Amino acid sequence: MNNFDMMLREHNLKATKQRIGILSIMQDYGHIKIDDLYTQIKNLFPSISLATLYKNMHMMLENKLLTEVSVKNSKTLYEITKDSHAHMHCENCGEVYDVDFDFSKVEDLEKDGFVLKDTQVIFSGICKNCK
Ligand SMILES: [Zn+2]
Ligand SMILES: [Zn+2]
Repeated sequence: MNNFDMMLREHNLKATKQRIGILSIMQDYGHIKIDDLYTQIKNLFPSISLATLYKNMHMMLENKLLTEVSVKNSKTLYEITKDSHAHMHCENCGEVYDVDFDFSKVEDLEKDGFVLKDTQVIFSGICKNCK
């Protein structure tokens, strides 16, 4: 049993070959758009349809194995769920980087009675490769 196999099971999902393929591509890319993911997954499973890919993505999002990252002026990106982190989005090359961020203040919202469902912190700017 490989890592992805276990990750899927831990999220109450069946570990199908296609899902394992999706996850391994996503791990290589870090953050990926559905179009790029579709191009890549086609190399592994030439007959997979976009609808099937969407269905699998949806299941894994529902079970919190994947997270959506919405950045300005770009299609939604997807990543494998990790510990809380913020994102740095480069307005020039479009690259999205993970950055450490102290989310401890966010918990105060819940003390104020706010029911928190999702947190996204995205910084926009120019990355060091583009400076
Ligand atoms: Zn850049
Ligand atoms: Zn990330």
